[in-house]
Amino acid sequence: MKKLMAANWKMYKTVEQAATTAKELATLLADNLSGDREVLIFPPFTAIAAVAGAFKDKAAFFVGGQNLHPADEGAFTGEIAPAMLLDLGCLWALAGHSERRHIFGETDEQVGAKMAFGLEKGLKMILCIGEKIEERRAGNVETVLARQLEQGLAGVDKAIAPERLSVAYEPVWAIGTGEIAGPDEIKHAHSFTRHKLNDFFGANADEIPILYGGSVKPDSAPAIMALDNVDGVLVGGASLKADSFSRIVVA
Ligand code: PEP
Repeated sequence: MKKLMAANWKMYKTVEQAATTAKELATLLADNLSGDREVLIFPPFTAIAAVAGAFKDKAAFFVGGQNLHPADEGAFTGEIAPAMLLDLGCLWALAGHSERRHIFGETDEQVGAKMAFGLEKGLKMILCIGEKIEERRAGNVETVLARQLEQGLAGVDKAIAPERLSVAYEPVWAIGTGEIAGPDEIKHAHSFTRHKLNDFFGANADEIPILYGGSVKPDSAPAIMALDNVDGVLVGGASLKADSFSRIVVA
């Protein structure tokens, strides 16, 4: 399986800034991106077309949407449909990012609807999961991850091709805080996720990339990438500058 090195640009960058960073990134990685790595950027919606344009003809560089609404079209002010993301050049979309769950109040059920609908409409989907610090302190990590996985994947076809799906383990307390999960915490969460995926999808699940996200930086990326069941990363803050993210991509 290829390693998926993903960047979440959240609500940062104008069209021009996004295009510039994407071009810088492609240049920095032109000679040293190994064949087992793919680069995936989630720009704000307004900059998707610009980043897709910058990656045109670049085989291992892809673009995704940070969110979607599970309907073809309609009176859903402020929302975006899978067909619109595909139209702009997206291959992937995120569902259930912790900021969507905890700032905008998305439920597991809504995340599951987004996963199923995005896949049905032809996008590849990353399901983001992760516990809050109080859930970890209460010893509930497995309970939370199991619930998020079960409900997030409830509507997904059991025979899905594994390369159309990914899970990002992003402990909420590690996102944007500078506090990174320790190796044992990451190994435990990823191995638990792998077992749950095996329960859902059988042996095929070994080919589903499980990403780690939460304050990944160029210095910490190599040790994280070396852990069992870590098949890539999802990076926020340290992905905003091409130099920093390119060092993570090759870690
Ligand atoms: C994220 O937004 O998914 C993320 C992991 O952010 P950061 O790397 O800034 O913690």
